[in-house]
Parts: sequence; C-alpha cells; structure tokens
Amino acid sequence: MTIDSRPLFGKVALIGIGLIGSSLAHAMRRAGLAAHIAGYSHRSETIEKAQAIGFADSFHTSLAPAVRGADLVVLAAPVGAFGELARELGPHLKPGAILSDVGSVKMAVLRDVGPHVPDGVHFIPAHPIAGTEQSGPESGFAELFDGRWCILTPLPGADEGAVATLKSFWQRCGSQVEIMDPKHHDLVLAITSHVPHLIAYNIVGTAADLETVTESEVIKYSAGGFRDFTRIAASDPVMWRDVFLNNREAVLEMLGRFNEDLSALQRAIRWGDGEMLFNLFTRTRAIRRSIVDAGQDIGEPNFGRPRTKNPA
Ligand code: NAP
Repeated sequence: MTIDSRPLFGKVALIGIGLIGSSLAHAMRRAGLAAHIAGYSHRSETIEKAQAIGFADSFHTSLAPAVRGADLVVLAAPVGAFGELARELGPHLKPGAILSDVGSVKMAVLRDVGPHVPDGVHFIPAHPIAGTEQSGPESGFAELFDGRWCILTPLPGADEGAVATLKSFWQRCGSQVEIMDPKHHDLVLAITSHVPHLIAYNIVGTAADLETVTESEVIKYSAGGFRDFTRIAASDPVMWRDVFLNNREAVLEMLGRFNEDLSALQRAIRWGDGEMLFNLFTRTRAIRRSIVDAGQDIGEPNFGRPRTKNPA
C-alpha cells in the first residue's frame, strides 16, 4: 500500500492550541497535511509558549487573520466558547472551506455554531476520542491520535466530498474514523467518558473532604486505586465544566442508571450477596480485556508504570 503524502489543504487554522490543537498541528506536520498551519489563541502568553515550540507557521491573537483563506478551520477551544468564536470568525470564512471542531459534545456544538456558518461553508463536527489529563500547548504530541477513534457527526445532506476529505484528514493524523448521529454520540460519550470523569472528580473531592482520614494519608496510600482516579480528576477544569454544562441531558440520564446500579451494589454488600458482586466483577474484568484486545489500551500491569520502589 502506498501512503499518500500530498498536502490535503493549503491552509489549516487551529482555533485553540492547547493539548488537542497542538497535537493536531504536530500530527499534521508529521503527515504533511497542510502547506500552512495557523494557530489562534486568545491569550498572548499561550501564543508565546506555542511560538517557542514552533508547531505552526503563523500565530494569531485575532481570529480574522487566522482563518482568512483557510481551507479547514478547526475549533479546539473549550466547547462553551464555540458559539462566540463562530459568530466572530464566520464572516471571514472562505467559500468552500470546511469548518470543524474537536469538542467533546456534539448537540451543543450544532446548536451554538450552526447558526453562524455562512452559505457555501461545509460544517462537519468531529470528536477525536483521544486525550490526556494535561493541557496547554506544551502538552501536545504527534502520536496522540494514533489508533484512536475520531467520530464525525455530519448533518443529513452534508457535502459528501467534504466529509470524505475530513475523514481522510483524520486518518492521516493516525485515527480510525466513524460517522455517528450527534445525539447518539452524546449518549455514548456520557457513559464512556463524561460520567467516569464526574465519578473521579467526586471521589477525589470526597476523599479530600473526609475529616477522619488526613490529607497526608490520602496521598501516602493512594496506590490502592485512588491514584488512578486522581489522574482523571486532574483534567482541565474549564474544559470539563463546559462538557457537563453542554451535555446535561445525556449525563443526567446515564447518572440515573449509574445511581440505580450503585444502590444495587450497596444492597448486595449489606446483605452479603457475594454471588452478585462476583458476577459483576467477572463481567467488568472481561470488558477490560476487550479494551486491551481492541488495541485501545496496553495490557501491562498497573498501566505499564515502572516497577520501581515508591520513593516516598
Ligand atoms: P486545553 O489544553 O485547555 O486548550 C484549550 C485551548 O483553547 C487553549 O489554547 C486556550 O487558550 C483556548 N481557549 C480557552 N478559552 C478560550 C476562549 N474563551 N476563547 C478562545 N480560546 C480559548 O484543552 P484541550 O484538552 O485541548 O481541549 C480543547 C477541546 O478539545 C475541548 O473542546 C475539548 O472538549 C476537546 N477534547 C479534549 C480532549 C481531552 O482529553 N483533553 C479529548 C477530546 C476532545 P489559553 O490557554 O490561552 O486560555
């Protein structure tokens, strides 16, 4: 098989150059996908950090010059900012350009961005299911999307050629691509990503508030499972605030199910129903195995952490 190394686009504008925006720039460079990458951020400190790394060809604190003449514009800021950004940049988009995003929710993006898309511009929302708990332009790396899924949620009647181009773009950034209905996307991501983050934020918050366990004990004995929650709970507060505010219905629906199942577990513990606990834990272990088998995580013990003695 020959690998296509021709640039897909003349100019790509990244609106937001944190973890996802900067990773996209690195991945685009690796695959030679754009003749010119423009990076936008609203704060000059962020631009200075990004300039020092140098993952784009031009950097901007104004939207108009960033998107002018761009063939692809990707919104990569927190989703709560998308509506205002789209309102401001919409009039500067080139006819025939693709406007996309990387937001973790999709119905709210359609609601907030859709009204600002000019005629002749192809609006195709997208969500790469890839990330870390780090944020900012220093945290990005080219391999972030390798082997991960990117979900496109085009509206019915979207231009097929533009959808195919965006699909090829994500594939050449290393992703596997799936097309999904936006409402279904929000429901799936509520249970696979949003509720797990809420649980992590909650358990770390609860542990921090416990008066009977000192904070130093929480940190000292954290290896027993708690530590893995703290990694997720260290994720960017602005990004995650916006996810919960913008995927309210789906998250509340999934939390309802979660609470019911948690009550069932509570009852099983109270009544000593070991069989129920054992059966559930056996099923969940199989799910972990299928995630590893699907290549979505490594099968190393303890997530591949080095087996060194804890220096503490
Ligand atoms: P990040 O590292 O915090 O980067 C966010 C970027 O947006 C920064 O350049 C930030 O600039 C800029 N920004 C913040 N507020 C803004 C505003 N009001 N107007 C304009 N720009 C603003 O976050 P990220 O992880 O890359 O997330 C970006 C998007 O990707 C979000 O929509 C998120 O839902 C989505 N996403 C994230 C992950 C993940 O795991 N992190 C995975 C998939 C999708 P300053 O730093 O200068 O404020």
